[in-house]
Amino acid sequence: MEIKANLEAVKKTFKNSDCLLVAVSKTKPLEDLKEAYEAGIRDFGENKVQELQDKQPQMPDDVKWHMIGHLQRNKVKYIAPYVHLIHGVDSFKLLKEIDKQGAKIGRIIPVLLQMHIAEEETKFGFDRTELEAMLSDPDFQSMEHVEVKGLMGMATFTEDTDQIRREFRGLKNQFEELKTQPLPSFMKMEELSMGMSGDYLIAQEEGSTMVRIGSAIFGARNYQV
Ligand SMILES: *Cc1c(COP(=O)(O)O)cnc(C)c1O
Repeated sequence: MEIKANLEAVKKTFKNSDCLLVAVSKTKPLEDLKEAYEAGIRDFGENKVQELQDKQPQMPDDVKWHMIGHLQRNKVKYIAPYVHLIHGVDSFKLLKEIDKQGAKIGRIIPVLLQMHIAEEETKFGFDRTELEAMLSDPDFQSMEHVEVKGLMGMATFTEDTDQIRREFRGLKNQFEELKTQPLPSFMKMEELSMGMSGDYLIAQEEGSTMVRIGSAIFGARNYQV
């Protein structure tokens, strides 16, 4: 009951009703996911391959699984057949591995490029220079088994809402700037994944198309992952 009520409360605050809610169920038991499913959620976010692998076969087939965390290259093969969207592609090497695994199974795998927008050193992601280098690389332009649907970013973990807004706005600007560039046909700037429980309202005000919300729906996690 609580999960359903939390979902309704979160949805009610949305600044943009078209923004997709990805329910981040990491560390939470299957019964919590089922409750969210019954309340209408189909998009679930996990950040550990093993946990995703455990949960995926136990949930209905129409669930769309979002891999939102840092993804190690040697684990791509496990989720390649079914993952709906990989949010955290933070290096060219990882993207190449996804393309390779997609080729093996004849699937075009949808991804987002994670941009480094936080002032914190610890957050993963491309900086502008790395992104430009990749975009102009012939190995990138010839990819056939990935579909880049947009960008993802995580703001600094801070109370300073001006800083959070600045970081999201910077990401939105990069997103809009990319749209004006000639991009290969498998790269479409449609989705902007930004915003979590603590900052999704700011993210929506700054143009987010999908928010990744965990604790505001499922309650606090016992351990931080
Ligand atoms: C855990 C996580 C979230 C959700 O965090 P909450 O603060 O619980 O909403 C969103 N995005 C990523 C990448 C995460 O790892």
